[in-house]
Parts: sequence; structure tokens; C-alpha cells
Amino acid sequence: MARGMTHDEIQELLGVFALDAVDGSEAAQVAAHLAVCPRCASEVTSHREVAAALAHAGSPAPEGLWDRIAGAIVEPAPALDLSRMAPLPRRQRARGPMVGLLGAAAAMTAVLGTLVVRQDQRVDRITAAMKQRALEQAAASANADEKAQRVTLRSDDGAIFAQTAVQENGTSYLVRHNLPALEEGRTYQLWGSVGTRNVSLGVLGQNPSVVSFNVNGAVTTVAITEEEGGGSVFPSGRPVVHGFLPDA
Ligand SMILES: [Zn+2]
Repeated sequence: MARGMTHDEIQELLGVFALDAVDGSEAAQVAAHLAVCPRCASEVTSHREVAAALAHAGSPAPEGLWDRIAGAIVEPAPALDLSRMAPLPRRQRARGPMVGLLGAAAAMTAVLGTLVVRQDQRVDRITAAMKQRALEQAAASANADEKAQRVTLRSDDGAIFAQTAVQENGTSYLVRHNLPALEEGRTYQLWGSVGTRNVSLGVLGQNPSVVSFNVNGAVTTVAITEEEGGGSVFPSGRPVVHGFLPDA
């Protein structure tokens, strides 16, 4: 038998093994180890669940899977830029600085890297859905956070609302709203007032879903206006909805 791998070395290979991308005697050693090590076996199982969920996006993911994925994505959910992510060539082994990362997130990266080769567009959609899902999870947990302030922005007549959750660290979410969808070429834009100045907190698009934004302690009012497509430097009209942040 070839040189036996240490337990650490086997663990490093689990994510790649789950993708059937480990060859030869190493694959045999990993397989033999899985038969006697429940912990590593369950890690491989969860890597495969992630891979299966990605391969069959559209069908329901296993219970709790999105929670784990969301937990593995660094908050506040940075853009996962697949265009910069090199595909993982078959047989390439994660070594060196990559080694410690071979948890669910790294396995997911490997899965995504593999899929990029085959199905660019599909992965774009899956990635967008995953990012959105992670964002929704983060928004839901912010909304459930007792220390977060729930600030509801309203139109003057009260008919239109946009509910936000503002966390202590300033990371905030537009949780839900009934803003009517805008026509092509128009966008909602979020503003924070600092004294008499209005600072753009984000361009939300014509039909916003859950979005994250950041407020600092100086922001007293949050408002949403309707603007030209790319957004504006200054709010160009009266807010569609607005609300006041309680004093910290
Ligand atoms: Zn093990």
C-alpha cells in the first residue's frame, strides 16, 4: 500500500472527494477511512447534499441546508464573483493556504468552480439565488434580533410602507415593503439624512427585493425616492416613504 495519509490529510480531501475528484490510491484510502470514521463520513454526506442541491436548483433543498450555506457565507454577504474564480481542475488538490478552508464553503466553491465549466449561465442564476437566499436569511435574523430597531418607512398617506431592521452595528435590511414596481428605466433609491444632507444608502432597482444597507449613528431619517435608472446624486423629489430612526 502507498504511504498512508494522516487524518488531517484525509480531512483536507473530503470536499474534493465528495465531488469524485480524488483519484487512485488516495480515493481508496479516503473511502476506507469513511467506513470507520462517522465524522468524516457525515462531512462527505453534507458536501454531497450541497452539490446535489446546486445541481438540482429549483427543487427543494434538504431541510436546514440553506441555513448552513448562509452560515458559511461571510456576512454581510459579499458578492461571490464567479468570473474571478478559476475552475478547479480535476485532480488539483487543495494544499497550502487553501487547506484550512475545506469546510462547507470551500467545498461549495469547488462545486461552483466545477459547474462554471459546464453551465455558466445556470451557475449565475444559482449564485444569484444563493446570494439572495443568504441575504434573506441575514435579514430575517436581523429582524428577529431583539437589539435591532425595526423602523417602518411610510408614505404620507400611510398606504405604502417599507419595513427595515437596523442593527446596532449599523448593518440594516429592507425586510419587506409594498412599493409598487416601477417602469423600465426608473429605480428606487434609499437615502439617509445626516443633518440637512442626504446621503445615498443604495440604489434599489425598479422592484426591490430584500436589500442590505448601512447606517451610521449620525443618520436620523431614512427615505426612499423614485429616481432615473442609475440612481441620483441628490434625491430629486419627495420621498415615496420615509421614517425616523429612534435616538440610539
Ligand atoms: Zn475522520
